[in-house]
Amino acid sequence: MAICKRCQRILDRYKNYTPKEVIKDSYCIFHHPSYWKEYGDKVREAFYNEVVDAVTNDKELICVGYYLPEIDFRDFADRIGKDKIIFKKRVIFEEANFQKINFGKVEFRENVYFSKAKFNGIVRFLEVVFDGKVYFSRTAFMGRRSF
Ligand SMILES: [Zn+2]
Repeated sequence: MAICKRCQRILDRYKNYTPKEVIKDSYCIFHHPSYWKEYGDKVREAFYNEVVDAVTNDKELICVGYYLPEIDFRDFADRIGKDKIIFKKRVIFEEANFQKINFGKVEFRENVYFSKAKFNGIVRFLEVVFDGKVYFSRTAFMGRRSF
């Protein structure tokens, strides 16, 4: 199977990133610019699987340039029966494209990177704990945000 062309470039910078297979037009499920519009549930579940892997195995969560559908960490935490979703390693959302997102019940123990990320919907940072630094350089907020 072919590897996504965007994933391949991420690998140049983040050696521990796991590249994904092509799903359509040379892009993977996360990097295709419009796949999430049609298959939102599928992309969301794949993303939650990555979250669980990072949280359970103390890995960095690397989502550079991901196109994500609506995400609700609060609901997801409830669903998997956790009081909190705790990331012990760095979380990289550089250049990611978000829709509506709720970071409730999330704790980031290390640095979080939102550089050049784009929030297209409402973003909620209420209840989130940042223990490390948070990088928002050139981040675009198109919708409302609540901290
Ligand atoms: Zn990719």
